[in-house]
Amino acid sequence: MNVALVLAPNPGLMTGPGTNTWILSSDDEAIVVDPGPEIPEHLAAIESALGGLGVVAVVVTHSHPDHAPLASPLARRLGVPAVGPAPGPGFRPDRLIADGESVGFGGSRLVALATPGHTPDSTCYRVDDALFTGDHIMGGSTVMVEDMGDYVRSLRAVQGIGLRVIYPGHGPIITEPDRVVGDYLSHRLERERQILAAVRSGAATVGAVVQQVYADVDPALHLPAAVSVDAHLRKLADDGLVRYRGGGWMGGVEALP
Ligand SMILES: [Zn+2]
Repeated sequence: MNVALVLAPNPGLMTGPGTNTWILSSDDEAIVVDPGPEIPEHLAAIESALGGLGVVAVVVTHSHPDHAPLASPLARRLGVPAVGPAPGPGFRPDRLIADGESVGFGGSRLVALATPGHTPDSTCYRVDDALFTGDHIMGGSTVMVEDMGDYVRSLRAVQGIGLRVIYPGHGPIITEPDRVVGDYLSHRLERERQILAAVRSGAATVGAVVQQVYADVDPALHLPAAVSVDAHLRKLADDGLVRYRGGGWMGGVEALP
């Protein structure tokens, strides 16, 4: 398999340098992964990068607006299906793809690996020892997580499975997958420890926890951080370590039933 990158011109706080649109090719057939936002110059850049390759499908990792909206317009122009794990705003897949299902191209096969957490529909795609992760794992920035229990399970699901390289949805290529996934897991455990400590010391709301735990982080990132803190608190509640009572979070002995 050959892999080429077309970087979308949508840099930002949540997108880093922009969305990575990956073109995977094997023999003369290709798949486009995460075509990105609907920006005419980006569409032109993808088409020119495709050259004479015969595209078989346009595939998205999840339906967020920085990954999926260009999928259907591009697929229509190429006369191929837009494929994704779920519909979303601005994205109506022609074909849904579930865990374990695959798309063949040339002599290769792209296999879906459901990795919920960032979003319920987040899906990675494996081709041999390479994994295309969307926002499940991003080069150089912290992932916003909707469901922390799912997310931690989905991190473990991509560790120790013989990967050589990760092509993330944003940021640089990752050449030591197991070490980086291990770092992600320890970062989450550390955050969880800090959040539990904050609740035990009296921080009763998501906002109060963010102020305490993310004090050293750019305030512009406090809103996405709040999403992850909320997800951490719900996981800690599932684990029986905190409770939501009378409009506030509490931890420690008073959290016991
Ligand atoms: Zn993204």
